[in-house]
Amino acid sequence: MSIFSRFLPKKKPVEIKNNIPKEKENIRKTFAVYCHKHHNTSGNQLCPQCQALLATVFTKINRCPYGITKPICDRCDRPCFGAHQTQQFMQIMESSKKGMLLRHPKMAVKHKLASMGVDYAKYQQQKKIDDRVKAKEKASKERAKARKEKK
Ligand SMILES: [Zn+2]
Repeated sequence: MSIFSRFLPKKKPVEIKNNIPKEKENIRKTFAVYCHKHHNTSGNQLCPQCQALLATVFTKINRCPYGITKPICDRCDRPCFGAHQTQQFMQIMESSKKGMLLRHPKMAVKHKLASMGVDYAKYQQQKKIDDRVKAKEKASKERAKARKEKK
């Protein structure tokens, strides 16, 4: 160990946050906002239809192949709720955005940030792929050039 090592910042282990409980809470509240408005329910009550959809969504989240690193459900590339239920879910999440902002502003903003985080991760992923493609193109061009120069 060098004598300087104690002046260096300690390396922190990378933490993977488990955001699933928070996301479930967000989804539950969003469903409530939607159901209260469209199906005349109130308080913690949901109509049977919304309750059933919510139960399906939660079951699927528990089995999410991405585990705790999963992106938020309304931005997932491979929604797993089934075609019809995914459509209903997206509709509820989309149409209750304004209502969430009014009733649960903190949560709505956090959800928006999480959504932006997904965009950023996708952007980084795409950039990596693009860089690799560019590097390959460059390498092949240089190989072609080298071949020409040999002649
Ligand atoms: Zn409902």
